[in-house]
Parts: sequence; structure tokens; C-alpha cells
Amino acid sequence: MSLLKMPLQQLNPHIMCVLCAGYLVDATTIIECLHSFCRSCIVKYLQSSHHCPVCDAEVHKTKPLLHIRPDRPLQDIVNKLVPGLVYDETQSPPGIRRKDRKRRHCSHR
Ligand SMILES: [Zn+2]
Ligand SMILES: [Zn+2]
Repeated sequence: MSLLKMPLQQLNPHIMCVLCAGYLVDATTIIECLHSFCRSCIVKYLQSSHHCPVCDAEVHKTKPLLHIRPDRPLQDIVNKLVPGLVYDETQSPPGIRRKDRKRRHCSHR
């Protein structure tokens, strides 16, 4: 069965990051156990722990950051399955400007 034909629900666990509970951004995989996370999430996480957040495998005693690698194919899958995701991280979503904010005056005379 083609990976891309699987229902999103079934794929979600593989394309989501347990650290931020969102879809993978810059998917990065721990070489030791092949678990994947967002790059920023796992880099931050490995500053305080040298173990995989999912299975607790030791990434590396002293230099865990050398034992993760960008997972291009996985990120491609995420980008295909979740169109629009690419924009979220780099641009602020439209419609947040508050030019339409109306001031309400209290008028109970
Ligand atoms: Zn994440
Ligand atoms: Zn793991």
C-alpha cells in the first residue's frame, strides 16, 4: 500500500512530534532508535537530556547532537500530507492584525 494513500489518522503518529504535539518541522531523526522530532524541539530537548524522549534510548553520552540527522524524506511526506504547514513557521498567519478593533464607549446616560 502506498504510504500516501494511508488515512492521515493512521499516519499521524509518524509525522507528529511528541515534544510539541504538532506536525514535524524540519524533521530530525535520532540515529540510535530512529525516532523523529522537529529539529528545534529535539535540539532543545537534548540540551537537558541525552535520551530519546520516546523510548529512552541513549542518543550519545557526550555529543547527542552529532547523533541526529535531518530526515528529508520524512519531511517531504509531512509537507505532502499537511499542505500549508510550510508557511506556518516562517510567516505569521494573516488576519491577526487588529485594524478593525472597535472601541466601545459606555453610553448609559
Ligand atoms: Zn516538535
Ligand atoms: Zn527513541
